[in-house]
Amino acid sequence: MAASVGLPSDDLAVQATNDDATSCKRYAVDRGYWKDEFIRYLYRSSEKKSPEISRGYYARVKSIHILVDQFLDRTQQKCQLVTFGAGSDTLHWLLWKRKKLPALHVEVDFPTVTARKSHCIKTRPVLLEALSNPVITMEAIRSDHYVLLPADLRDVKSLGKQLIDAGLDPNLPTLFLAECVLAYVEGAKVNDVIRWTAEHFKTSVFLNYDPINPFDKFGEIMKQNLKSRGCALLGMETCPDSESQVKRYHDNGWEGAWSMDMAEVYARLPRDDVARIERIDFLDERELLDQLLRHYCLSGAHLDSQQLGAMDDGP
Ligand code: SAH
Repeated sequence: MAASVGLPSDDLAVQATNDDATSCKRYAVDRGYWKDEFIRYLYRSSEKKSPEISRGYYARVKSIHILVDQFLDRTQQKCQLVTFGAGSDTLHWLLWKRKKLPALHVEVDFPTVTARKSHCIKTRPVLLEALSNPVITMEAIRSDHYVLLPADLRDVKSLGKQLIDAGLDPNLPTLFLAECVLAYVEGAKVNDVIRWTAEHFKTSVFLNYDPINPFDKFGEIMKQNLKSRGCALLGMETCPDSESQVKRYHDNGWEGAWSMDMAEVYARLPRDDVARIERIDFLDERELLDQLLRHYCLSGAHLDSQQLGAMDDGP
């Protein structure tokens, strides 16, 4: 496989998790769990998933969207958004459609992943239309409000330089978003990224969605499944629960950290919408969904040097 030359196989396996995530999101969108008219242009097929998976993805996407919206509202969109391990995420297009774009949105992923995304954007007018003055190369895009950046999170020195070169202004409120990516990165390297963001952006929020609880039976199976595909959950080993997620933020320069498992998040989502999605697919066993939700968490932290009160306190 020519594209894999020079890349350790684990990196390829980790990149493939983006297809899994997008495929699950695409199926849930097609079933009506939430609206996303753009995902079909980034992932073509819609493979059947279980109701638990669709509800889990609903909770993940919905809670992140709520918190991103909160940040955009509180900063009146005079802010920036950085998505680490963005994969095929459509958030930028969803925000554009609702006229809710921040001043700048930077999406970061491995070059092979950004190359695919760049190609999709370039060749699909529906996606391209959202970008103003785009300059598109094989692996990267620069435009007025959107940058697609090929970078490795494990090399914080080069990542930091690339982020600043991309035009991020350290004085603007900035939301850093990591959705199901830090668990794949070695603990010490995650610390570097979290510390770098806190040191450089003094009015900011860091939001992270990650798998947790690897040590019980369900967690063991989850880990084994990924391991058999070449994906080690390196970050999860050093940060295996909500408490350590909070500690990691505090140890690396952040304040006001919080973390909750997705069962707790699910219980806090708007009840009318939850009632609506719970009618879409019949769930045999609530127990299985609860187990799944207890093995993922959402966590966040903030720094508020400008005292904007723009910062989150959870969903
Ligand atoms: N955030 C997206 C994709 C999650 S899949 C979503 O939730 O839908 C994890 C993504 O993180 C993949 O696209 C993978 O390529 C990226 N990733 C993992 N490790 C990375 C690293 N060291 N540097 C850059 N991107 C990384």
